Amino acid sequence: MTRYVYDFDEESVGGRELLGGKGVGLAEMTALGIPVPAGFTISTDACRAYLAAGGQIPDGLDAEVARHVGALEEKAGKRFGDTADPLLVSVRSGAAISMPGMMDTILNLGLSDVAVEGLAAATGNERFARDSYRRLIQMYGDVVDGVPGHRFEQALTDLKARRDAPLDVDLSAADLAELIETYKAIYAEETGDSFPQDAREQLRRATRAVFESWSAPRAQVYRRTYEIPDDLGTAVNVVQMVFGNRGERSCTGVCFTRDPATGESHLYGEYLVNAQGEDVVAGIRTPEPISGLQERMPAVYDQLTETLGRLERHYRDMQDIEFTVEEGTLYLLQTRTGKRTAQASLRIAVEMVDEGLISKEEAVIRIDPGQLDQLLHPTIDPTAKLDVAAKGLNASPGAASGAIVLDADSAAERGKAGESVILVRWETTPDDIHGLIQAQGVLTAHGGMTSHAAVVARGMGKPCVAGCEGLEIDVAAGIVTIGEHRLRAGDVITIDGGTGRVMVGSVRLVPPAIDENFGTILGWADGVRRLAVRANADTPEDAAKAREFGAEGIGLCRTEHMFMAEDRLPIVQEMILAQTDAERARALDRLLPMQQGDFEGIFEAMAGLPVIIRLLDPPLHEFLPAREDATSDAMRRRIEQLQEANPMLGTRGCRLGLEYPGIYEMQVRAIVRAAKAVRDRTGEAPVVEIMHPLVGFEGELSRLRELTERVAAEEPTVDYLCGTMIELPRACIRADEIARIADFCSFGTNDLTQTTLGFSRDDAEGKFLTFYLEQRILERNPFETIDQEGVGELMRIAVERGRGVKPDLKLGICGEHGGEPKSVAFCHRLGLDYVSCSPYRVPLARLSAAQAALAERGVAALAIGG
Ligand code: PEP
Ligand code: MG
Repeated sequence: MTRYVYDFDEESVGGRELLGGKGVGLAEMTALGIPVPAGFTISTDACRAYLAAGGQIPDGLDAEVARHVGALEEKAGKRFGDTADPLLVSVRSGAAISMPGMMDTILNLGLSDVAVEGLAAATGNERFARDSYRRLIQMYGDVVDGVPGHRFEQALTDLKARRDAPLDVDLSAADLAELIETYKAIYAEETGDSFPQDAREQLRRATRAVFESWSAPRAQVYRRTYEIPDDLGTAVNVVQMVFGNRGERSCTGVCFTRDPATGESHLYGEYLVNAQGEDVVAGIRTPEPISGLQERMPAVYDQLTETLGRLERHYRDMQDIEFTVEEGTLYLLQTRTGKRTAQASLRIAVEMVDEGLISKEEAVIRIDPGQLDQLLHPTIDPTAKLDVAAKGLNASPGAASGAIVLDADSAAERGKAGESVILVRWETTPDDIHGLIQAQGVLTAHGGMTSHAAVVARGMGKPCVAGCEGLEIDVAAGIVTIGEHRLRAGDVITIDGGTGRVMVGSVRLVPPAIDENFGTILGWADGVRRLAVRANADTPEDAAKAREFGAEGIGLCRTEHMFMAEDRLPIVQEMILAQTDAERARALDRLLPMQQGDFEGIFEAMAGLPVIIRLLDPPLHEFLPAREDATSDAMRRRIEQLQEANPMLGTRGCRLGLEYPGIYEMQVRAIVRAAKAVRDRTGEAPVVEIMHPLVGFEGELSRLRELTERVAAEEPTVDYLCGTMIELPRACIRADEIARIADFCSFGTNDLTQTTLGFSRDDAEGKFLTFYLEQRILERNPFETIDQEGVGELMRIAVERGRGVKPDLKLGICGEHGGEPKSVAFCHRLGLDYVSCSPYRVPLARLSAAQAALAERGVAALAIGG
């Protein structure tokens, strides 16, 4: 028969998965000789069995619990359900992975109308006994029977007002007796039953309620948000009560072994005298800082300091504990790995290495790569009160406040004048780039993680909330509706690109904080990773930023943004509108020196490091205005000619280069000349890699390679590699043929995801994809995290077939996935040579790559929280 219950003081097998974080902590503390009240844990197996049986207590559990209650009675020297001097217990949930605030606690089980009198007599403290009973009714009513908590709160507030008692502790024993009667009446009114007087029935129903709470909607939402599996279940801890509400020599508190905000190594926490459990967090009375305990109860404070030191050395990580002092005796009720800010994470990890507590590898694996973003961008002050008006996709991290601006020209103008503005658009296009450059952030109603706004904002390190469904824009009237709020252009909003939240008005922000510890940890990460990390950068400024963040080259320089610059666009349009080859050649000749200048800037910024320049990719119509804005008949005709029903699958990428070879010839010439000029100027030859987009057929790449070599041969000799993107399923499947011609291949997983899944990257995220995620048809957004089973499988085939014919074929990734931790880990396992991502994600990719390498070596991370 399955065993479901384990005492804290017995050796158990199964650890955290079986006993939950709280249960395992209590058992381990007991084993360490740390003062912990006696008790037992009902395992997660029991919860899973209960849920699987549709809410049936598994066979044998009641009898097993009864035996363990018996053992607890022996240890305590008191009987559960006794009316003279009753044993009281708390019932607390505890899942394997911490789910703060998701599960519930009930204190003082075992009290009844009669037992409360016994407790009062046995302790000689009537006030304490009645206070404990009223708390039981309140918590039990709320957790077990769903009595609205505010009804009890209201009754307490009313009584305090009538007695002119500012604090709970100002109520007398007689007041509390009255409150108990009110609470019982509320309980009876809400449930149609009187408050249960039998201790064992209380325990049975509380256990059931904890099991049930695993399936509560708020728990489900939390699990989905933090990707916690649904089938873990929760354990139930039954703990002998110790009382922090027995008077002035009793207290209860929470404490961290280091400061969770800064990481500084000193006790950090707070406590309340004469209080119980949740009073500290409930905010009814203001707790005192933990340092105050040193004066009030010096011996207890010393014991606490010593105990926490031991716990930290045992767990080798910062602990977050709960404690209670009953009449001068200290008890620890919980220990878990403490949550902390990014800054504290880094400091604690570095200092623990210095203290010899952990290794450098452990320090590296402990840092959450996602948290690094907090250090690189301004974020919302965690203490600020937020009124969230709408939510969109968290497309580019960081937070910003600014005036709503509805068009790129005004954003550019007002931004340049020093005003903080947020560009608010249905979606952005390359035409908006000047506005994006000057805006503090961008908010769009449409588009997803690979939309123009998202990609550009990430590149610039600016916040972007994309695909915000609650956003409506009436540009003509200058009116913006965000959720319930109707705003005008010029009104201030705040966006949080790390979470996708949009707030009306300005919100307090915390500035980014890169410190020495950041560099230290990333230095250690660089020492263990195998993947190289490059950046996607289109300008010398972005390239310089990328280098500052540790990029080891450029994995993708998109050349289309250069064509959009104000001084270029008219010439680009002339080139597109040209009627004859000669006319087109003239326009290209004028673009050539400009492009050469672009590349020189980037080569210089990346001196000594490889730079992949990708030849023009987007369909030509993107460089022309909308049909109704055409400035001539010729232009209108050309726009009509170029129009395609499905431009993302139309004349773009290498198809464009093959149909209009003059464009690619001009670009290759500009690259080679730029390389030569930089070599002459600096004495160091740039490491040049030329890349052709959207190749699907061997015949495409062989012709383009021939074009590249022919043009390069006409120019002064410079070394370069010629490669291709792999961003179509056919290219993956025929990677052997492609590898024979390519010096290197870079997975363009944005297009590869779009074409493999048949999901339009411009439409999916704002539309059906949200529904798919809600319905859990998909677990994750495939434009954010590589769809490993589909897209990933194609990548695996490509690696195998490509390296099959060319074992040293250089392989990388430059889609947006190149900076996402799970995808970086996947690329490591695939054996790619490098990942490339936007400059601001470079640190995160360095860390993720190191963690992937360490995971392969079996270095495990500690779970944060418990
Ligand atoms: C890709 O498709 O993954 C890619 C990097 O190219 P782009 O996003 O410019 O199409
Ligand atoms: Mg692409």
